[in-house]
Amino acid sequence: MSVSPSASATPAAHYDVVVVGAGFSGMYMLHRLRGLGFTARVYEQGSGVGGTWYWNRYPGARCDVESMQYSYSFSEELQQEWDWSERYAPQPEILRYANHVADRFDLRSDIQFDTRVDAAVFDETKKLWSVTTADGKTVTAKFVVLATGCLSNARKPDIKGLDRFKGQVYHTGHWPHEQVDFTGLRVGVIGTGSSGIQSIPVIAEQASHLTVFQRTANFSIPARNARLLDEERAWFRANYPEIRRVEREVARNGIYTDLPDRGALDDGDNERRAKYEARWQRGGLTFMSAYNNLALDQVANDTAANFVREKIAEIVKDPETAKLLQPNSHPIGSKRICVDTDYFATFNRPNVTLVDIKSSPIEEITESAVRTTACEYELDALVLATGFDAMTGSVAKIDIRGRDGLTLNRKWAEGPRTYLGLMSAGFPNLFIITGPGSPSVLSNMIVSIEQHVDWISDCVDYMRERELDTMEATREAEDKWVTHVNEVAYTTLYPQANSWYMGANIPGKPRIFMPYIGGVGPYRQICNEVAAKGYNGFAMTGAARQQRAAAF
Ligand code: FAD
Ligand code: NAP
Repeated sequence: MSVSPSASATPAAHYDVVVVGAGFSGMYMLHRLRGLGFTARVYEQGSGVGGTWYWNRYPGARCDVESMQYSYSFSEELQQEWDWSERYAPQPEILRYANHVADRFDLRSDIQFDTRVDAAVFDETKKLWSVTTADGKTVTAKFVVLATGCLSNARKPDIKGLDRFKGQVYHTGHWPHEQVDFTGLRVGVIGTGSSGIQSIPVIAEQASHLTVFQRTANFSIPARNARLLDEERAWFRANYPEIRRVEREVARNGIYTDLPDRGALDDGDNERRAKYEARWQRGGLTFMSAYNNLALDQVANDTAANFVREKIAEIVKDPETAKLLQPNSHPIGSKRICVDTDYFATFNRPNVTLVDIKSSPIEEITESAVRTTACEYELDALVLATGFDAMTGSVAKIDIRGRDGLTLNRKWAEGPRTYLGLMSAGFPNLFIITGPGSPSVLSNMIVSIEQHVDWISDCVDYMRERELDTMEATREAEDKWVTHVNEVAYTTLYPQANSWYMGANIPGKPRIFMPYIGGVGPYRQICNEVAAKGYNGFAMTGAARQQRAAAF
């Protein structure tokens, strides 16, 4: 194809920083960069801000970290003025919050929506990235920040015949913007992770019949969601300095709660049961904070898992259904705990059927039914709650080429390799927010997002002050970090589960425990120390400074 002279003569627009993605990561990154006086362009493939909360509009979608904590802390005014309506805000409200932030900080003028980034190529001579979007346009930038999200690449399962199904098919991670009404329909849901567990009770209320196809039963704790009272909001607001400090520095998962001072086996049976009961009544993810060794010790973990299994047996009336719903294939907490509203009780409804597709797998989907090896289930609509190609999926979709033409996909073929989850050797000036090798998805993600954005902002500012051209992780530092991430993971029970943390939900994906499980606080300290030591483990080049030095 020939390129017209005028097109080739037009210089590509240049920015200090290109940011990919306008979820909570990309939005805050833009805000910080602007504050530092950098020019920045954000590309977002969706038509609006909010990322996760833009795409995941399925019925029942809400956060699993309490909203007073699952919200930005960078602006005192923002956290004092925004009124969350419920303990766990529903998706539309979180999306409204994202839009409010975009308006309040006037972010939209530097965000280009409906624009997918397809490629980023590093030019070693110019020391610049060329970023190409799906519309064929290319811009250059000194830095690229991947704010592409850990759970943003929805995964359609590879089930024979899926495309033949004549009814509507929805993926929870790619839900339509229009209201979906299941009234009077026979609906099937495939998948019982967090998305399935949140949507199933709501869909059951609408559908004439709901069939849930479960491959692996999951642990879920009641949310105990409720409207937030003025005094509760006031308490958080008054105590934010301490709450945010604990989230960042003390709590391993970035969630403020009363922290355990002992292991599960340090208490007798009655005391232990009382503690679990209190956490169960309180509801939410912090159930796992009852003791400090639940992620480490199988016997301790069994005490918590048994408690939840007993609760399921109490709630679900049909003993066979209850047994199927009791997870028995992985330690509790080794997959992200689900947080639900009436999930288990939903299986007491006469219009809900649970189908065990572990013992009788789905063979195929026909024009009107899901057929397992045991039975055929006639359906009008199908909901795929089948999850994501997590942590690396959205990065892998971009053709990223670093030094010597090395692609990130080739480098990560055996699993992601990063230093601190922030950079990968061979890819100078390319940052990842909440990348593999950082606490990321094991945490209250807004805490981790803010930490990464602040670190990256300080770093590019440091480079500008010293007139440095490039910064990149050294192979040595990266190798050490990857080993450390892996070693820490294997001191816990997490690798025992076939989870998306391990890449186990994607056929052929390398089995590597991707997030860093060392804890949000210790990790922050490591990152701060690295920066304080002049970015230890990162190689920097600075043409301007070197040239001046050479002239003397
Ligand atoms: P995202 O919100 O995923 O945003 C990334 C954006 O990048 C997307 O909008 C995507 O379209 C865009 N993008 C990706 N690739 C490209 C490309 N090539 N070109 C252009 N744009 C691109 N975490 C918690 O801590 N607490 C919770 O309660 C919680 N609830 C969740 C509920 C659901 C249903 C899901 C799926 C995840 C949840 N998470 C939760 C995790 C959640 O993803 C993070 O909390 C957070 O929203 C991530 O923000 P982000 O900006 O990093 O990524
Ligand atoms: P997920 O946890 O990966 O669950 C996917 C479900 O689909 C699993 O039950 C899985 O079964 C099943 N599945 C996948 N492929 C299948 C196939 N081919 N046939 C049959 N079943 C199949 O995905 P998710 O529920 O979307 O959640 C992902 C993460 O997003 C969560 O862990 C959480 O971090 C976040 N999230 C949070 C919330 C919240 O409460 N705020 C809500 C939604 C999501 P197997 O387990 O057998 O593979």
